[in-house]
Formats: sequence, C-alpha cells, structure tokens
Amino acid sequence: MDLENTLLTWLPIIFFGVVIVLLLYTLRFMPRAKPAPVVKGSQVEVSWTDVAGLDEAKEELQEVVDFLRDRKRFERLGARVPRGILLHGPPGTGKTLIAKAVASASGANFYSQSASSFVEMFAGLGAARIRKLFEEARKHEPAIVFIDELDAVGTARSGGGFHREHDQTLNQLLVELDGFNARDEVVVMAASNRLQDLDPALLRPGRFDRQVHVSAPDVSGREAILGVHTRDKPLAADVDLGQIARQTAGLTGADLANLCNEAAILAGRNEAQYVRQADFDASMERIVAGLQQRRVVSEKEKRILAYHEAGHAVMSHLVGDLFPAQKATIVSRGDALGYTLNMPTEDRYMHTREEFVDLMMVFLAGRAAEEVVFGRITNGAANDLERVTQIARAMVFEYGMSKVAPSRTMRADNYALSEETKRLRDSEQARLTDQAYDEAQRLLSKHRAALDRVAEALLEKETLDRAELEALLADIKPESRSSETIGTVRALPMRD
Ligand code: ADP
Ligand code: MG
Ligand code: ZN
Repeated sequence: MDLENTLLTWLPIIFFGVVIVLLLYTLRFMPRAKPAPVVKGSQVEVSWTDVAGLDEAKEELQEVVDFLRDRKRFERLGARVPRGILLHGPPGTGKTLIAKAVASASGANFYSQSASSFVEMFAGLGAARIRKLFEEARKHEPAIVFIDELDAVGTARSGGGFHREHDQTLNQLLVELDGFNARDEVVVMAASNRLQDLDPALLRPGRFDRQVHVSAPDVSGREAILGVHTRDKPLAADVDLGQIARQTAGLTGADLANLCNEAAILAGRNEAQYVRQADFDASMERIVAGLQQRRVVSEKEKRILAYHEAGHAVMSHLVGDLFPAQKATIVSRGDALGYTLNMPTEDRYMHTREEFVDLMMVFLAGRAAEEVVFGRITNGAANDLERVTQIARAMVFEYGMSKVAPSRTMRADNYALSEETKRLRDSEQARLTDQAYDEAQRLLSKHRAALDRVAEALLEKETLDRAELEALLADIKPESRSSETIGTVRALPMRD
C-alpha cells in the first residue's frame, strides 16, 4: 500500500532527524573548560592557628609560605624551593585544612580544585580543565594550585582501553608539572589518601618530589585539636580535654571536630549555658560506636601494638647504636599500625655477618615481644618478616655468609646448583632466621622490665622520640656482638 511505502521511506529519515537534533542539543550543553575559580589567599578563612598538632608538616610548609611571600630572598642564595608538594595521610587528618592555611599565610592566589572535577565522560575535557587551571595560575603569580583528592586522577595509568580519558588527564597533569621554569612563582600542592596507589611518574624529581606526611594525631595532637575546636565554645569547669584526648585514640582531627560539635549540640538541647564533660562523654560514645566499622584501635590491640613496638625499640638499643630507634609510635600510619624508625648512625659501605644478624633481631623483636608477653602472635609482623627473609636470603644466597658453604654464592639463577645444595641453602636461610628469632626472644625475656617500661610509656604517650627512648633505656648496656666490628646499614640487602 501507498501509506506503508511512505512510512517505510520516511520513518528512518524522521528517526535520524530526531537523533541529530538531540545530539546537537546535548552538544550545546556539553561542559567546556571554564576558568578555575580563584580565591585571594588573604580571603581564605583558615589560619595557621586553626591547624593543631602537625608540627612537622607545618614546619616543612613554612618554607613554601616564605618562598611565596619573598621569592627574592631565596633566589639570592641560589636556593631551589620545592614546587610540587604532596600532602599524604589518612582521611580527616587536616590535609585540606593545612593547604588552606598555607594559602592564607602566604597571601598568594589560591586555585583549589578537587581532582574529581577533572574526571569527565568526554574524552580530553579533563585534560583541558587542567591546562586551563595552570594557565590561569601562571597569569596570576604568585599562586598556589591545590589539587585535592589527587587519587581521583593520580592512580597508576592503565595504558589504554576504557581508561583513556583518565590517562589523558593524568598525562596533562604531568606535562603541566614539567612545564614550570625557574622564574615561575607557582607552587603546586596536592593531597592524597593513598600514596601507594599513585602513579609513580607523579613522584619523580621535579614533580611532586616533596612529600609531607600528615599523620593521625597522637595524644598531645588530639588535645591540641580539641583545644582549637572548643575555642569558641563556653566550657564547664569539669571539662578535661586531656582526658578526652586520652580516650580517643584512633580518632582523626575531623572526628574530633565532629565530637566537639556534637557535645555543643547536646548541651544546647539541654538548654545549658556551658558544654559539660558529660556532653563530651555522651558524644564520644556515639562517635566511637559509629566508627566501629572503621579502624579504631581497641585497648587490647593497643597493648599488643605497644609491646610489639617496644620490642623493636628495646632490641635496637640492645644491639648497640648501629640501628638506633629514632621514634616509636603506636599511632597508625597508613596501613602499618605502628613503626619504629631505625636510622644508620653513619654511612658505611660494608657490613659484617654479625650486623646482619643484629638487624634481623631488630626486625624480629616486634613479634618476639608479642610472644614473650602474651604467649601468642599476631599478623602485625608481616612487613618485619618480609625484611628478615630478604636479609637472610641475601646472606646465604649472595654474600656467602652461611656456615655450610662460606665463600660461595648460591643465587637462585645459578642452575649449576645441585638439588642437594639448594636444600642446604634453604635450610641454612631458615636456620639463620630461627636463631635470630630465638635470640631476640631470649634477650627480651631477660630485659622484660625494660620492655614493660617502654610499652607502658607508649600506651601513655603513644609516641616516643629518641631522647625519651634513651632515657627509658639508659640503665641497660648494649649486648651487641657486632659493635666491635665494622659494618654498614646504609645499603640494606634488599636485592631480591
Ligand atoms: P583531610 O583533607 O585530611 O581529609 P580535612 O582537612 O578536610 O582532612 O579535615 C576536616 C576537618 O577536620 C577540618 O576542617 C577541621 O575542622 C578538622 N581537622 C582535621 N585535622 C585537624 C587539625 N590537625 N587541627 C584542627 N582541625 C582539624
Ligand atoms: Mg581533604
Ligand atoms: Zn614490627
């Protein structure tokens, strides 16, 4: 029929017509790269004094502030001031806050964008936004470009496929970071919760090569944060911020700000004139319960953790000053719950067998302490064991330091090794670590009083610095077998 024919010819044409009109319509509204909003640093409403704790981070960032305020002072001295600063640490610890404080203290123009605003459906648009952002900042020097939540674009590139847009955006960011020249007065800051997921290219020299760790607060940090967030609140005389700080291990600055606010709301609801300790107690209960799913370290876990870290600290003292503990803490840092930092006292380029054994004992002492004190062990030592395995392996496989086959390497890629030799080699590696573990347990049992002392101090203060550790261990003489030999820890045997 005629009508049918007409329909058959016209329907597709009408259909495509509609599609084209719709397409044009969406294109009209397709977002374009708009200039980034800029704020004068002097109008940022966060000041240095709003940031509590975080002394190390503040100190490092003070340099950036000085640079932006008076570039010439640094130029005269030929100093190169860092241009790319990455703030990293757990969520809610004050990264965004401190970036704003830097902006306000320096008075520079502040371009702040969350990286998620670069994540776009349209290919190339994220990259265009980044280009625009940096273009604007360069036009308005001195300026700070702050990319918050960098993880949204900064995770490792995929190399094609569905993630091309993400890769393009990240590439553009790398291009911009490389594009600075010495005269630019633009500092780029970024914040990330997950340093380990970032594309390594971002961390290369000349890019985000200065990394500032923004850590979860320890007890004194928490007290300071509580101080900031109760500044404008009338407190009853019974409020004890120090005690609240002690009861809130595991809470971040954001949690504590929330706590103070909740307490004030409670007091308001009761039509009170002041916020009382009881209001804080009630809010604390609520907040801690709400955070149960998240990592709040329980009292029991804290004790184990304290002994684990105390074990490392006591052992590094016992093996002499080869691997002194700079700091021991039970404040969680990223994935690792606690850590004890060992820094070599001097640079040396050789190490002895005894020193390797001592080093293994320091790494094993965390778990050894758990076993000595609680009679059971936790999974908290996985990283330590990894390091110990590497050391023992290198000793036997590469340095010919085993009893069974001294003066011979037995590398894994050496096919000439007989099955017999391989068995020997593996059992020798196991023997070395087992011996070191037994010795670590023996020494810690012998110095149980010192172990208790350090653990108690950690439970109370959460972080102990070098001087505090030394004071706690002053009466104990090192029992190192390596102290009379030469050695180095500069190049740890981390080849495998
Ligand atoms: P992050 O960016 O690290 O996730 P934020 O900077 O957004 O954390 O912190 C959120 C809020 O928590 C801040 O606005 C502030 O009220 C509070 N806060 C966090 N850390 C601190 C701190 N160190 N001192 C004072 N307040 C803090
Ligand atoms: Mg933030
Ligand atoms: Zn450990």
